[in-house]
Amino acid sequence: MNIHEYQAKNLLRNFGVAVPRGRAAHSVTEAASAAQELGGPIWVVKSQIHAGGRGAGHFKNDPDGKGGVRVVKSVEEVKANANEMLSHVLVTKQTGPAGKEVKRIYIEEGCDIARELYLSMLLDRETSRIIIMASSEGGMDIEEVAEKTPEKIVRVTIDPATGISGFHARNIAFGLGLEGKQIGSCVKLIMAIYKAFTELDASMVEVNPLVVTGDGTVIALDAKMNFDDNALFRHGDIEDLRDETEEDPAELEASKHELNYIKLDGSIGCMVNGAGLAMATMDIIKLYGAEPANFLDVGGGATKERVTTAFKIILSDPNVEGILVNIFGGIMRCDVIAEGVVAAAKEVSLSVPLVVRLEGTNVELGKEIIAASGLDIISGDDLGDAAQKVVAAVKGAK
Ligand code: GDP
Ligand code: MN
Repeated sequence: MNIHEYQAKNLLRNFGVAVPRGRAAHSVTEAASAAQELGGPIWVVKSQIHAGGRGAGHFKNDPDGKGGVRVVKSVEEVKANANEMLSHVLVTKQTGPAGKEVKRIYIEEGCDIARELYLSMLLDRETSRIIIMASSEGGMDIEEVAEKTPEKIVRVTIDPATGISGFHARNIAFGLGLEGKQIGSCVKLIMAIYKAFTELDASMVEVNPLVVTGDGTVIALDAKMNFDDNALFRHGDIEDLRDETEEDPAELEASKHELNYIKLDGSIGCMVNGAGLAMATMDIIKLYGAEPANFLDVGGGATKERVTTAFKIILSDPNVEGILVNIFGGIMRCDVIAEGVVAAAKEVSLSVPLVVRLEGTNVELGKEIIAASGLDIISGDDLGDAAQKVVAAVKGAK
């Protein structure tokens, strides 16, 4: 789960991370009182959307105009810029051309920037450990730095058995070329971010830029946090920060029905039980020359209703040109799946080829239900056969 910058900064502040003072606002009036409360003389007005690259972005109604992060010098200017941002669509490198509507903004006190750096912490799945990455190239995409100047990235991996120690943080600070009181300030910030990361079950914290101010303090000028969805049940306060308007509607609907759905860019919708089988199904679709439109694991104990919902979610994607249902009935019974598939196909008046491969408990009954449905459903004998059939059906339909 993602949260907004201002929410991430509030969480980090509670753990002792140095961040500028700021207030969130939903309207121009709120923005003005936030600015008055903060006091100036310099403010930064920041669009809050779940995407980065805001500073270098543009508003859709003003393609050559200013971006989503603006430094201003009066309350009047705060109001004018709030008005230009709120309810307008911000397009950045990360939003894609459709952009995202700005519904909240963050008013922050201005900061005297001497250097812009980069810092992030994330779960490194290769080592199964938290890795801290830092670079002297603040404000740049880390992917770009990794590609063009990999030597500028400092990496420190933390052993979970010992946790973080001062020397880990000092190695980062030295790697960034910090000196004097900047080192202590940076170490304190890194230790605090690590504490927040582990205690809040984050999967990623990215501070870009991390800033050295004129007086040698190190502070987080931007903050992005992601959380492990599987740990959210123990963080009700973080769950409350969820902004559903920022999420993919199909993924949101899926999560409400406990379906594990991730939208992808291909044309073949997949409905599978079990994550491993879902991965294998995606692989075999690729093997036969097409691309999966989604990852979807309906889980072990899916009901007819859940299967119907899963179907609707797959079909809500306009890129879907064919569907492959691949079910192994272990805990799940094939007849239940078959009933769900038939009911859903009737309800949504299916307009794309559908291939169903069933195997396992009550498979014969399942196949009978499908055959008796009168629907135009193609039956697959095994995984390879089913994948070839759905790819052929989609290519043949063109
Ligand atoms: P992003 O573009 O979505 O990553 O948004 P950021 O929060 O990183 O802001 C973009 C840029 O705006 C930063 O890299 C800074 O250069 C600049 N910026 C942000 N806050 C301040 C501030 O308080 N003072 C000044 N002078 N610049 C700021
Ligand atoms: Mn940034």
